[in-house]
Amino acid sequence: MRLIILGGPGSGKGTQLRRLSQSLQLTGLSVGDVLRDAIAHSTRLGLQAAPYVSKGELVPDEIMIQFMRLRLLQEDVSQGWVMEGYPRTAFQAEELDFVLSDFGQYLTKAIYLEVSEEVMRSRSQKRSRPDDTPEILNLRIKRFKERTIPILEYYGRRDTLVIIDANQPPEAVQAEILQKIKKTGFLQ
Ligand code: AMP
Repeated sequence: MRLIILGGPGSGKGTQLRRLSQSLQLTGLSVGDVLRDAIAHSTRLGLQAAPYVSKGELVPDEIMIQFMRLRLLQEDVSQGWVMEGYPRTAFQAEELDFVLSDFGQYLTKAIYLEVSEEVMRSRSQKRSRPDDTPEILNLRIKRFKERTIPILEYYGRRDTLVIIDANQPPEAVQAEILQKIKKTGFLQ
C-alpha cells in the first residue's frame, strides 16, 4: 500500500503519519522531517533547502523531485509506505506518478486532512518551530492554498482522493482514515 497525507500547516500530517505507519505496519516518510534533519546536518540537500524552509517558501520542484526519485528507490520503502509533505505541487504530483509507474507501482490513496485556517494557526502556534512564527506561517498557508490545494483536483480526477475532517482529535481522525480506506477494499 502506498499512501500520501496532504494538508496545510498544523493539519496533523505528522501525527497521522506516525499513527498510520504503526497501525498499517508501513514505513513512514515525513518529507518536512527529512529536510529539517538535512538542514541540521548541513548535508547537500540541507544547504540547498535551508533558505526556502526558513522563509516558509517551498523548496524548488527540481530539488525535491531529484531527491524523492532517489529516496523512493531505497530498500525500506520497497514494500509500501505512507508519506506526508510530498507532493506539494501539481508538478511534484505528476512526477510522483511517473516515478511510481517506472517502478511498476501506483499510489493507493491520497488522504487530505481538511482543517479550517483557524485550526491551522492555533495548532501551529502551539508547536514553536522556527518556521511557525506568524509571518512565516502566513506565507506557508498562502503557498498551501496556491500550490497544494490544486493537486486535490488531480487526485480527485483519478479517484484516489479521500477527504477527512481533521478538525477532530487525532484518534477520531485516524479512525475516519482507516474506515474510509477499508471501504475502498484496500484493507481487510
Ligand atoms: P512541513 O513540516 O511538511 O510543513 O515542511 C516544512 C517546510 O519544508 C515547508 O514549509 C517547505 O519549506 C519545505 N518542504 C517540505 N516538503 C516540501 C515539498 N514537497 N516541496 C517543497 N518544499 C517542501
